[in-house]
Amino acid sequence: MRIGVASIMQETNSFAARSCGLKDFTVTTGDACRDRVGGTNSEMAGAIAAIEAVGATAVPLLHAWALPSGPVEDEAFSWLQSLLQNELGSARTLDGLVLSLHGAMATSVRFDADAELIETARLVVGEETPIGVSLDLHANVTDRMVRAADVMTGYHTDPHVDMRYTGERLVGHVLSVLDGVLQPVLTLEKRPMIVPAESMNTTTGPLAAIRRKADALSNDTVVDISLFPVQPWLDVPELGFGVLVTTNNDPRNANRIATALANEVWEIRREFTVPRLLEPPDAVAAARASSTRPFVIAESADAPSAGAAGDSPVMVAILADEANLTSVVPVVDPTSVERSFAAGVGASVTLDVGAGIDTRWHHPVRFEGVVAKVGEGRYRLAGASFTGMEVTMGRFAVIESSRLTLLLSERPAWTSDPATFRFAGIDPFDVDLLVVRSCSDFLPNYPGSPKDAVTLDVPGPATPRLERLEFERADRPLWPLDPFDDSGISVGRALHGR
Ligand SMILES: [Zn+2]
Repeated sequence: MRIGVASIMQETNSFAARSCGLKDFTVTTGDACRDRVGGTNSEMAGAIAAIEAVGATAVPLLHAWALPSGPVEDEAFSWLQSLLQNELGSARTLDGLVLSLHGAMATSVRFDADAELIETARLVVGEETPIGVSLDLHANVTDRMVRAADVMTGYHTDPHVDMRYTGERLVGHVLSVLDGVLQPVLTLEKRPMIVPAESMNTTTGPLAAIRRKADALSNDTVVDISLFPVQPWLDVPELGFGVLVTTNNDPRNANRIATALANEVWEIRREFTVPRLLEPPDAVAAARASSTRPFVIAESADAPSAGAAGDSPVMVAILADEANLTSVVPVVDPTSVERSFAAGVGASVTLDVGAGIDTRWHHPVRFEGVVAKVGEGRYRLAGASFTGMEVTMGRFAVIESSRLTLLLSERPAWTSDPATFRFAGIDPFDVDLLVVRSCSDFLPNYPGSPKDAVTLDVPGPATPRLERLEFERADRPLWPLDPFDDSGISVGRALHGR
């Protein structure tokens, strides 16, 4: 038995400054995908292992991954779509296909790009070959996606730590279809609501409660319940919270459970709030008052993991004059990196830091310091999310003043992961205050942070203040942007599935 494995992933933030071109994707084809994902916490690594564990043949086809950003350039998407088509076409006959997508990718003109990828795969493999699709928990699941796939599942965790397990679970479903023991019936129920990314934690809070109920309802007949609270910076039609239930040929139960869980999500929508949202000076005061070290301040509004540029210097301005706390702030700033390289290690530099890529929210901040280190290269993430994945922040420079250390990088850095700081020679656990640009994925990587971390109340394209975003394409009314009475729950979607 031969099962194809492919993955194309990008998360689109419609409000971000940078678009995403082909050069932003790391693309691997064929057997080289094994090296690309080997040892990583990824769907493809889990899928390959699960296929081979039952003695079947995994056929790696394509792995394409880009950091979240603004919309994918349409030509880049078309190229990737053709590549998927060609790789599928040139593979010898496949018995099944496992496709790992993000589920919230859009181009400037295609608002449901992931559905197009599933449809492309369907055209090549035909109606009889089962296609299993895995999605990020932040996916905007649509009718088109569900219609084109046979089985579909998503991460169960936020912060995401179960990518590998998601790939394994999906393969289990596809193998059950091939064995004839699973006749999947999928029901997608959606509710017209978005919630802040900071409020989607699956270990504590409202989504955790729904997830526990979903787990309790899962059994031999109810084979998969995936919750898709959707990342909230995606301005596309059909935007909303999705509940996807898969049963073994039991449409009545699929409908009943999906409707009940979606109704419950709608009823508790006001509970999805951001834990501690503080202005920058108040966040620094909270760090002073706390004994947790490092005290982590999350600038989620400017998180590259949510598509933002990562170049806000707002904390540089505040911490440059801080007399007591040692601190580290990462800023994406290719111009200052270039100047630091030119000055060389040991040189004193005066830099205008930040606000060079996304110029809408802040002004550059003048900073004087000494170039402590410069470097470049690829490294592997070591935290709980995307563990083992090779990434790059381009060239980087570490600039030190008396109490504040800046990590300047050419490209967005994965600052939720301590490996990023360590690669630059900074010990993130040896400072009083650490700024990360992350909504939630830093939490498992900094042991003190779950009880103490604060989120900055600052503007940016990934702001938790969703009412500040100007949606044009999303279906309205949309909670919390528009007023609703509780009859708003009638906007749910009907049964689908092949
Ligand atoms: Zn996600």
